[in-house]
Amino acid sequence: MVLSSLFNTLYCDFPCPHCQEKIVTGIGFRVGSLIKARYKIGDTLNWQQEPRRPEKRPNNGNIITLGHFNCDNPKCTSWQDCYPDIQTVKITVEKDRIIDVSIYTDALSEGQFAILTEITK
Ligand SMILES: [Zn+2]
Repeated sequence: MVLSSLFNTLYCDFPCPHCQEKIVTGIGFRVGSLIKARYKIGDTLNWQQEPRRPEKRPNNGNIITLGHFNCDNPKCTSWQDCYPDIQTVKITVEKDRIIDVSIYTDALSEGQFAILTEITK
């Protein structure tokens, strides 16, 4: 099993920051049980099955992580040489619920699918 190939997908009406088209293919992210689950905003993150990332569910089920998507619109300015640039969003999970997704432009230092914080409050 190749752990890095495992991820979940968040489907929402998130617009591409470049062309404003809705992202149809979803946003990939890697927290909770990595079981190729399909989520939407407001859903409860599954921690029941292995493998998990992180290995233990954080206290109170609060976590902020980075997710990634490609724009689906081939006419979008994020497409270069027939390939779309990978875009990054910040996904906020509070009490195990996915409550927010927002564009994240400062991702150069963190790396893909980074976990930004495990909120302890
Ligand atoms: Zn776009």
